[in-house]
Amino acid sequence: MTSVANSPGLAATLSRLEDGFRAANPTSAKLHARACSIMPGGNTRAVLYYDPFPLTFVRGEGATVTDADGHTYSDYVGEYAAGLFGHSDPRLRAAINAALDDGVMLGGLNRHEAGFAEIIRDRFPVMERIRFTNSGTEANLFAIITARMATGRNDILVFDGGYHGGCLTYVGGMRPHDVPFTTHVARYNDIESVRALLEARGDAIACVVIELMMGAGGGITADPGFLSALRDETAARGIVLIFDEVVTSRMSGGGMQARLNVRPDMTTIGKYFGGGLGFGAFGGALDLMQVWDLTRGGIAHGGTFNNNTLSMAAGTVAIRDIFTPATAEALFERGEALAARLRALGSAHGVPLSVLGAGSVMTLHLQHRLIRYPSDLCTPPGLRKLLHLALLELGQSIGRRGYVTLSLPQSAQDDDRLVSVLDDVLGTHAAAILEGLEGT
Ligand code: PLP
Repeated sequence: MTSVANSPGLAATLSRLEDGFRAANPTSAKLHARACSIMPGGNTRAVLYYDPFPLTFVRGEGATVTDADGHTYSDYVGEYAAGLFGHSDPRLRAAINAALDDGVMLGGLNRHEAGFAEIIRDRFPVMERIRFTNSGTEANLFAIITARMATGRNDILVFDGGYHGGCLTYVGGMRPHDVPFTTHVARYNDIESVRALLEARGDAIACVVIELMMGAGGGITADPGFLSALRDETAARGIVLIFDEVVTSRMSGGGMQARLNVRPDMTTIGKYFGGGLGFGAFGGALDLMQVWDLTRGGIAHGGTFNNNTLSMAAGTVAIRDIFTPATAEALFERGEALAARLRALGSAHGVPLSVLGAGSVMTLHLQHRLIRYPSDLCTPPGLRKLLHLALLELGQSIGRRGYVTLSLPQSAQDDDRLVSVLDDVLGTHAAAILEGLEGT
């Protein structure tokens, strides 16, 4: 991979963009410096960091966000897929306000939770029984624990490039900060790599956990043939197949599993499902989930805020009234159409732009190498920075890693604007981008 030092044109471009960013954002710079004195790295959530310093946002409205220095951006970060409803949906505000009026800390079951679970089960029939958590990470952790308890087996199988939460992250394999389950890491979309591990350790493996589109893994999607083989292999060996749909649940009324017509044994959800408030849930077949049934001698699954009234009330309205199956379908189509338009800009400017993902969640890559596996991801960090800062400068906010997620309040004009700004950015910076890719 070339370094910026060997690419004078790219280095000059980055330095110009960075100088402009610093000059435009003195308040964010100050706030980040202060945050660094009390929080490691100046934040409490890794994905929000980027150099030279991350913006601090002070307000969101509709599909826009405004930073501490008063710039307003079109919000295509979409809170990393949790911000599906944008910032101001009146139905969610009403649901949250009504829950506030009823008192938020009731210390018992509340009137929202069972009804919300029924709505989820109707959309995801595999979730015959459901438990709520506070986050997607927790949902995955407890889904894995469910599988281990129900099967009496110890090990888990995941995929290189997979991300299932802050301590369940397999980008580059298993690392010391991952939960120390005995973990086998297979190659995504490579059923032979799975079979080899199953041959060796199949009797000890409790579950396979997989995203149907890799979020942190660059937006690579699961091949239908691979998934159906995975379904067969796991079923034949009594291994619990867990689909992590924390992000991909938005791909249809019944998630990506309905779109691909593959049924797992368990599913986890999170992100937007709580209507913009903290949320996670795991669920699956009755015989698996009854390990948590205290009325039958099951084990205890705790969590003070698992059924918090605000998330339960907002989530109910969000999924029942706003994100209906028809809305999910329309959003998916909108995302596919936008991705095709963004992709076309690469060819128009002679720049190797890949847009991976599915529906309303996509990742932009600038690299020559074709991406089939996470190990193929090789966009130079300098090019990710260039794209990010250049888009910000023109009022478009995307994630540093090239991550774009759509939200419901965005209009066709918003999408047109993103396309036209990316067109400008690629037009202006094509030479620097190509220079940054020399020798790759
Ligand atoms: N699973 C996937 C696929 C995710 O993308 C994420 C978060 O980005 C998680 C799980 C973890 O969810 P949370 O951040 O709510 O813990």
